[in-house]
Amino acid sequence: MAEPRVAPMPVRNVPGGGSPSAAVMGTYARQNLVFARGQGAWLYTEADDAYLDFASGVAVNALGHAHPRLIAALTEQAGKLWHTSNLYRVAGQEALAERLVEVTFADKVFFCNSGAEACEGAIKTARRYHYVNGAPERWRVITFEGAFHGRTLATIAAGGNPKYLEGFGEPAGGFDQVPFGDIEAVHSMICPETAAIMIEPVQGEGGVRVAADEFLRDVRTMCDEHGLLLIMDEVQCGVGRTGKLFAHEWSGVTPDIMAIAKGIGGGFPVGAFLATEEAAKGMTPGTHGSTFGGNPLATAVGAAVLDAVLEPGFLDTVTLRANRLAQGLAQLKDEFPDIVVDVRGKGLLAGIKVAPPVGDVVKAVIAEKLLAVGAGENVMRVLPPLNVSDAEIGEGLARMRRAFQRLSNKS
Ligand SMILES: *Cc1c(COP(=O)(O)O)cnc(C)c1O
Repeated sequence: MAEPRVAPMPVRNVPGGGSPSAAVMGTYARQNLVFARGQGAWLYTEADDAYLDFASGVAVNALGHAHPRLIAALTEQAGKLWHTSNLYRVAGQEALAERLVEVTFADKVFFCNSGAEACEGAIKTARRYHYVNGAPERWRVITFEGAFHGRTLATIAAGGNPKYLEGFGEPAGGFDQVPFGDIEAVHSMICPETAAIMIEPVQGEGGVRVAADEFLRDVRTMCDEHGLLLIMDEVQCGVGRTGKLFAHEWSGVTPDIMAIAKGIGGGFPVGAFLATEEAAKGMTPGTHGSTFGGNPLATAVGAAVLDAVLEPGFLDTVTLRANRLAQGLAQLKDEFPDIVVDVRGKGLLAGIKVAPPVGDVVKAVIAEKLLAVGAGENVMRVLPPLNVSDAEIGEGLARMRRAFQRLSNKS
């Protein structure tokens, strides 16, 4: 038999095996864990090791893993139609948009595929609003220190985190940053070119920093006084995470434009930006688009998530679980003052500011088979699925206690 002319590819690594594949671009500092399946709040490795998932894919798996209603919505749609593009009407997209309009401040919805795209679209909408109003010079957006709006060129400029901007050339223009919560700083940053103020009601990546209701109300007032649009980024804190459908509802303030993603897809990539009729008036045919945005699969799953979150009692239960979690975390703070510096957050978007490097604390809880996520300001985020049980909250707290005990003994 002739020698094969092309040598077979060397097997570098077994996928899911001992060490990570070098074929995947190294942009993430990943935990060396591979999961094979999930069920509710639990993830299982190939060897069937069970991990309690209080990371939820960074606030994405709102209904946990393998939720029967989401599986049904996805598979039913998968058997019918996957994609037609936005050249045509998409029935599921119209249905989900109608539903979102019904339950929010918004009159219009544009669907995309991620949080960054949703934020970009929100910014474009604000700029176009002033453009069609005859004020094209109004294009600047005031954003906040500690903000995170995604990793595209515009959204890293909006977020302003030097670590994320480094090496990518001149940051995209048009963003002015002020300290989070400082209304005077906002006021003095407003200029004739300002188009909008963009804020996360709860900063997630920034370290679970909650904007005070009063601050949000002051920002709203300032927007009204200066003809600015208020953009809220609810990509992480939205879709039931704080115990209201959207976090801004706690303050009684409504935005003009809102970006959502993460939780609305429950694990399927879905993003959207929503706007009032007035704020959306510049977004006319040809101004924006997305090939995949709002396709039948995405909107079928999005509708199923929204239905579940809006079921009577669901959000009240989120608040019950959140209260139990907050109580438990406060107890851990009392027990381990050398580990826990501060406990903060809203609903099931909880943050623990820790004394040791947060990476070490995340590793310590993972050693107890509990998943959590690091954030800015040395904070560990605790983000259980919204349908987590009371017993699972208790179990998560017990695992944290064991982890903190070990860290405490070491120090
Ligand atoms: C995650 C996140 C984004 C970016 O979402 P991607 O889907 O990763 O692009 C934007 N804003 C906030 C508040 C987020 O938490």
